[in-house]
Amino acid sequence: MRGRMMEDPLLISGLIEHAGTVHRDREIVSRTVEGPIHRSTWGEVRTRSKRLASALADAGIERGDRVATLGWNTHRHLEVYYAVSGMGAICHTLNPRLHPTELVYIVNHAADRVLFVDLTFVPLVEAVADQLTSVERYVVLTDASHMPDTALRGAVAYEEWIDGAGDFTWPELDERDGAALCYTSGTTGHPKGVLYSHRSTVLHALGVALPDVFNLGASVSCLPIVPMFHACAWGLPYASAAAGTSLVMPGPKMDPESITELLGAERVDFCAGVPSVFHALIQYWRAAGTRPEALSMVLLGGAAPPQSLIEALEDEFGIEFRHGWGMTETSPLGSVNTLTPHQRTWPAKKRAEFQTKQGRPPYGVELRIVDGDGRVLPRDGDAIGELQARGPWVADGYFLSDERKLTEDGWFPTGDVASIDGESCVQITDRTKDLIKSGGEWISSIDVENSAMGHPGIDVAAVIGVPDEKWGERPLLIAVPRSDPPPTKDEVLDYLSNSLAKWQLPDDVLFVDALPMGATGKVQKTKLRERYAQ
Ligand code: ADP
Repeated sequence: MRGRMMEDPLLISGLIEHAGTVHRDREIVSRTVEGPIHRSTWGEVRTRSKRLASALADAGIERGDRVATLGWNTHRHLEVYYAVSGMGAICHTLNPRLHPTELVYIVNHAADRVLFVDLTFVPLVEAVADQLTSVERYVVLTDASHMPDTALRGAVAYEEWIDGAGDFTWPELDERDGAALCYTSGTTGHPKGVLYSHRSTVLHALGVALPDVFNLGASVSCLPIVPMFHACAWGLPYASAAAGTSLVMPGPKMDPESITELLGAERVDFCAGVPSVFHALIQYWRAAGTRPEALSMVLLGGAAPPQSLIEALEDEFGIEFRHGWGMTETSPLGSVNTLTPHQRTWPAKKRAEFQTKQGRPPYGVELRIVDGDGRVLPRDGDAIGELQARGPWVADGYFLSDERKLTEDGWFPTGDVASIDGESCVQITDRTKDLIKSGGEWISSIDVENSAMGHPGIDVAAVIGVPDEKWGERPLLIAVPRSDPPPTKDEVLDYLSNSLAKWQLPDDVLFVDALPMGATGKVQKTKLRERYAQ
């Protein structure tokens, strides 16, 4: 017997209609690319995204068409998110930190018809525009008075474009239709597109808004440091609309001083980003003898945060730390480590050590680990295997590909290596491709890095496997020193031997000025391997 309930589809337009009606006056504050702080509301975002949808429809954009963005976190980018998906087209966020040749590949592969571009990135687009075969029109995310002199095809200032547009009625779409598209840097070959549906996006928004994840609500003010071009800013633009959360958008100024200023001036409660950003922030807070007053909670994810960073945030600055794991293919949130009240009573070291784990899946995600033959491994905290995920916001394949990327029984292989304990808490030990195999034993690069970053003379560190005749591979530690002169190799190894077994200790320690960072703010180990394999 079927239930007697309405079957209204879960649509992104429903999120903005809710926020624009029920949370109409909740603020959206942006640092604009032009400079000044701009203040708007969920009500205005709704009105303006409808006008933009109308302009897109007038320009001939139809359901399923791809519309790209190359922009910072701002109110205009937020409006584009809602306008494009709301009208049934697909909002394709481009990562400006990618190499131009990769950008060209991605735009052409997606066949983007319109490209919204922030002033900052106009030169980047101009340099490759003759290779972008599908783009019919460029909309510069600015007003007429800041419009640059550009030869980009059909270039128009965003404000002018929506000024001339009328109202719009959101269409009733199939909730399984594509809504947003994000390419992920594949380990081999070309980047691959992850195509989120309306349904997956709305369910993810509801899932991540929960108290044990982002803890959003209508009295919260959230600053997504994670860019809207990286896995849809972890769903915060959607979850905040569902929860009526106020958004504070940092625009192009991502340096610690500007972020700290905005966190303080707007009394932000919560922010989220990758560990490297918070590493820079706490260094700035220490040097400036300051700390954003209202900030009570942060969620770090995208890479493993070292224990020293967790301790600094929680014990030195008194900010609740939460640890998230996920990937573009999991929308992205797959697990989160939020302490229980009991765990909060643990001694600081024990607590921080536990917080390096990636936590438990929220409702909506199931996780398991399997061995090399695909056999499911026990949840005992000891067995280590490849992590697999399933659920309504996990990808089953890639954009424009017919191939199902799942195991026979329907799980998505993440390429991460992990253990899961009896309480479902996941600990990622590595990515399959970063694990170091020495004399038949696996060494977790994350473990060695985490230990090394606890040394007072080491700022950041990365560990890679280098070929070794006797052992197959041996770990090499590459670090940026904090002290001058840097610690000696023996001092570092001595320190590491407090927490690592002898065979896990790096064979060598190299000090460098900086580590190569990728487009999503993570250390590029492929570059390190190319450079130091010998
Ligand atoms: P890419 O980094 O390949 O561009 P993603 O942004 O989707 O793509 O990154 C997902 C990967 O980042 C995960 O598979 C995992 O290896 C790593 N990752 C994400 N969060 C964490 C975390 N909290 N701890 C360790 N690794 C993480």
